[in-house]
Amino acid sequence: MHEGVVIKARSGIYEVKSEGKVIHCALRQKIKLEDDRMRAETKEMRMASLVSVGDRVVISTPDNQSGYIEEILPRKNQFGRERIGKLPHVIAANLDVLLIVFAAKSPPLNLRMLDRFLVTSEAAEMESIICINKMDLVKPDKVKGKMKLYEDIGYPVIYASAVTGEGLDALRHAMQDKISAFAGPSGVGKSTLLNAIQPGLRLRIGDVSERTHKGQHTTSEVELLSLDFGGFVADTPGIRSLGLFEISTQYLDSFFPEMRKYLPLCKYPSCSHTHEPDCAVKEAFELGKINTQRYESYLRLLGVKDGRYERRVKGAKRTVSDKERISDVNTMKDTTRGKRKKKALTHRGGR
Ligand code: GDP
Ligand code: ZN
Repeated sequence: MHEGVVIKARSGIYEVKSEGKVIHCALRQKIKLEDDRMRAETKEMRMASLVSVGDRVVISTPDNQSGYIEEILPRKNQFGRERIGKLPHVIAANLDVLLIVFAAKSPPLNLRMLDRFLVTSEAAEMESIICINKMDLVKPDKVKGKMKLYEDIGYPVIYASAVTGEGLDALRHAMQDKISAFAGPSGVGKSTLLNAIQPGLRLRIGDVSERTHKGQHTTSEVELLSLDFGGFVADTPGIRSLGLFEISTQYLDSFFPEMRKYLPLCKYPSCSHTHEPDCAVKEAFELGKINTQRYESYLRLLGVKDGRYERRVKGAKRTVSDKERISDVNTMKDTTRGKRKKKALTHRGGR
């Protein structure tokens, strides 16, 4: 028996990396049966694909070439998409680190979008590291000034350039012996960086997006690539574009690390931190302890649009329609926040 990590899954055959070798494995029938039995007993929908890329498994290798998955070890986290009326699709399990890549310039550094990626990463319980690429195109101090906000919150920021090689060692260090993934808008240099980190790595990926026979796009296949310096990296459209996933508003406030310490201090446990009296978050914001741009990102993700809050934030009086809007927002909040459950899946497909 050996322990390994599932690096690829396709049509019931799992590629498991174990002790430096890749072994093609099938799933023991008993695991499937046990899963069926448990589901029948609990009447619960199976929360995840039974075996996903990133899963740590115990395998037996009767002939040293191929083997069987005998046991699936508990997941630390899983990352995927819920689908209405269907089993959720797990894109990957046990991702340790999400490298959120933006460019210092071209495309422009969009902090609103960065906040969106960060929230998604927090929700999936991954360690988030921000990477600002294309530093060769800008005056470093200006960008570093902009990013200080994030460093103050506690997010590590790596300044990089695939052109000059700046930051590559820091990226390697962050990825070493971990399962990591790259996310970020297109054009920021994710592929270029990955190739600079380990030349030739991405050549093996090819076109990972597939179509079903009905012509629908399936969620793209995930593959973990082995890093020479230890660890794995996933690079797939499904993870790269996670900033586009719908974000549940249920625990939104807790996905803003700088708000967390104020949450228990709000008068109402279900406080949405928009209009309620004795709101510790709003108080902290008014005292300048929570950054305006981040608070605005919070409101936007909560579903507050049309700039009404932005105006209020800048000191204008609240209007009647603001109040109406706020009550809408409240119905979206979870009122049983005291009993926060660890959520299995992060992304809610619709409401
Ligand atoms: P992806 O969509 O995030 O994978 O981005 P790509 O890796 O395809 O890069 C988009 C473009 O940015 C390409 O033309 C790259 O050559 C360029 N690029 C990537 N990294 C850098 C960098 O550090 N500096 C500069 N100046 N250009 C870069
Ligand atoms: Zn509050």
